[in-house]
Amino acid sequence: MLSNLRVKINNSLKDSYNCFIKHLIFSLLVCPICKAKGLMEIHAYYPRHVVALIGGVLIDEIIDILRLRCCSCGHTHAILPDFIIPYCTYSYSLILECLNGYYSKVKIEELCERYNISPQLIYSWIKRFQDHKAQCIFLFKGKKEENLKVKLIDILKRILGYIDLSDFLTEYFNENKYCFMQVIKSPG
Ligand SMILES: [Zn+2]
Repeated sequence: MLSNLRVKINNSLKDSYNCFIKHLIFSLLVCPICKAKGLMEIHAYYPRHVVALIGGVLIDEIIDILRLRCCSCGHTHAILPDFIIPYCTYSYSLILECLNGYYSKVKIEELCERYNISPQLIYSWIKRFQDHKAQCIFLFKGKKEENLKVKLIDILKRILGYIDLSDFLTEYFNENKYCFMQVIKSPG
């Protein structure tokens, strides 16, 4: 998987992704498995359901995700844009808006109705955000022990304070080597 690739979003996620793929420079891509450079070829496309918020509007789209194959080691890699969380249908725009609502004391039932989702889903995002707390500490300068006392709402404010969310997602990825809010599957 090549995840967290910066994609500029316009009105449609599908168009944004297709435009990104069209301009992808294959010769610069490095295989995450064998580190060979410029040896990726198109393997297949597969449909991926994505739900996001664009300009406050709920968007529900199917995107054709490109899968590349490394000619050196034979592994295949999905090309995932940074608005997609691996293994998750819902994108950052919606999840962060929900978390913001929750920490701003908006009722769970109201959030469920507004975004057409279940309370269980919102609680799972809150839990996941809590699980990722320590990995977000890089947002704060100073002593690590002190920073671990930072409240979740303050972390959320920092994240929402980014003019371009992609900047935060890139920093998080570089720091932790996986995506923000990604569930890490334990091996085996
Ligand atoms: Zn390879």
